[in-house]
Amino acid sequence: MISTLIDLLYPHRCPVCHGIVSSKGQLVCPGCRGKLSYVTEPVCKKCGKEVDDDKEEYCPGCRKRMPGFRRQIALFNYNEAVKSSMMKFKYNNKREYADFYIEELLRLHGRDLQEMRIQAIVPVPVHSSRRRERGYNQSEVLARRLGRRLKIPVYPHALIRTRKTLPQKGLGSAGRLHNLEKAISWGRCARLPGTVLLIDDIYTTGATMEACARALKKAGVREIYCVSICIGEI
Ligand SMILES: [Zn+2]
Ligand SMILES: [Zn+2]
Repeated sequence: MISTLIDLLYPHRCPVCHGIVSSKGQLVCPGCRGKLSYVTEPVCKKCGKEVDDDKEEYCPGCRKRMPGFRRQIALFNYNEAVKSSMMKFKYNNKREYADFYIEELLRLHGRDLQEMRIQAIVPVPVHSSRRRERGYNQSEVLARRLGRRLKIPVYPHALIRTRKTLPQKGLGSAGRLHNLEKAISWGRCARLPGTVLLIDDIYTTGATMEACARALKKAGVREIYCVSICIGEI
């Protein structure tokens, strides 16, 4: 009864077509789920991106520059449906879409996450001016939702973006990473435990995640795992 009332008052919006989900208790329309591209095996053992052949241990990107984190789980491949969903989540205050992303993450990768024995969750930071503009950091919304579901503490200020990143276009991968390393640093917060999960909405070149992982390592974190809701070229 109460849940019916809540459904009536706050109907779930579908993260794909952005309409109201008609099936009771569902977070996505049945037809819309099929428009999303889920990451499937074989995947890169480091960043979780799909690879063509299961004999390939790592994707070309990771072979070129091996990330410093232990490994990553990625939920969706970047396609048009995912792109539109992510844009609304990030810029149009559709924070509720995090519910769907996190439930899908747990449904498909819950066991993997348990095996990581994560002790803390840290979101990838955005610059404070950007946070003011949008009213929230989308990665923090994801972190809080996941933290609540797994009962793991979230440290939203463990990492801070001290400056807006300079334009990355035209820079090689080393230049991008260097830029980001200067922009992301350890924030003022209590000491973190030894095993930390970093979470972000999108993983493209991996430079942002790598800069975050390096900042956590400098702060003494031993094991770093990552989650990205989607992965691929924008
Ligand atoms: Zn829909
Ligand atoms: Zn990879």
